[in-house]
Amino acid sequence: MFSFVNMKNNVLKNLFSNQSYEQVKFTDITGRYITNSHLEQVFNEFKNDFEISIPGKSVLGKPIYQFKAGTGNIKVLAWSQMHGNESTTTKAVFDLLNSFKLISNENSISGILENCTLTLIPILNPDGAEAYTRVNANSIDLNRDLQELNQPESKLLKEVYDDLKPDFCLNLHDQRTIFSAGSRPKSAILSFLTPSMDEQRSIDDYRKRSMSIIAGMAEDLSSDLSGNIGRYDDAFNINCAGDTFQNLSTPTILFEAGHFPGDYEREITRKMVYKALISCLYRISKENIDLVDYKKYFELPQNQKLFNDLIIRKAMINGDVRDVAIQFKEVLKNGKIEFVPMIEKILPEINKYAHQEINADRKLLKLSDDSEITENVIVNKIILNDEELEVKYG
Ligand SMILES: [Zn+2]
Repeated sequence: MFSFVNMKNNVLKNLFSNQSYEQVKFTDITGRYITNSHLEQVFNEFKNDFEISIPGKSVLGKPIYQFKAGTGNIKVLAWSQMHGNESTTTKAVFDLLNSFKLISNENSISGILENCTLTLIPILNPDGAEAYTRVNANSIDLNRDLQELNQPESKLLKEVYDDLKPDFCLNLHDQRTIFSAGSRPKSAILSFLTPSMDEQRSIDDYRKRSMSIIAGMAEDLSSDLSGNIGRYDDAFNINCAGDTFQNLSTPTILFEAGHFPGDYEREITRKMVYKALISCLYRISKENIDLVDYKKYFELPQNQKLFNDLIIRKAMINGDVRDVAIQFKEVLKNGKIEFVPMIEKILPEINKYAHQEINADRKLLKLSDDSEITENVIVNKIILNDEELEVKYG
């Protein structure tokens, strides 16, 4: 049957193929634990193609690195790992840099590099990255410090912004596994937000521009992520980076890399973020043509917290039938992130979805060391009717 092919999807089609992605995926940087030293080990591969500089340092004196790419008039500022333990978008930034290096003759990539100048800060919070914490070394959430500017990292971001006067800002983050895109059993593999510019959540032309780009990205990614793209609530908080820059009339887009079922290393999500970045930059590079109606932004379902990592349904505990919700806690151990299962809730019925479900079918549930099953305990091994079950992700 004949159907109209979306032109924009068509332009990006080759670039979005698995074959093309495998070519540009920067495999030297993988997993969840990404720090400055990972970056430093790969500088040689990029130093001839990009200008790498150190615009500032962290609380503990670690360099904050910055990459420049492209020669165009449209200035784009992007930063990742403002929250140190949110590394998926950093991996995607390296895939993006690799695509600039390896396939710059590809039409949409050359268009991006000719029309835009990109300033990329892959790890804004290197101390938090090393310690695998959200906050910086002074235990401050940098994304709440854009007005007070008490911390060297947030101060640096504002200085780079003030010097550059970017036309667009991309604020790159990870979100937890708990989020669903809307109320259906669809995990929010990617979420976006155009932060508010004021308390009234006004929509001016700058905000419309970022809404239109987000709607466009959702369109370009629709075959990969049908129903798995969410939208964050836009309550205004001027202390956040996005709200501050949007308030200063810079269209700003928040990216949140989320959970693809089973993909705790976030290597599939990383690919989706790469595609989203390509789509976003392509649309920015085309500036005032191919605009998607900004109202489509509101068609994206709003994020809700409807997922657990694992739910054991109908288990017999102390003579009662109970549902048990388990969340994996991310713990840094020997340079790797371990996912430690912890009981979050025990209830007669848990009205949530899970990335993994076990139907205990009223069998007796025990812990391997016979300790009491309660909330907030770690459960590496559980026993269902004398059968040992290892609680692992994946
Ligand atoms: Zn974050």
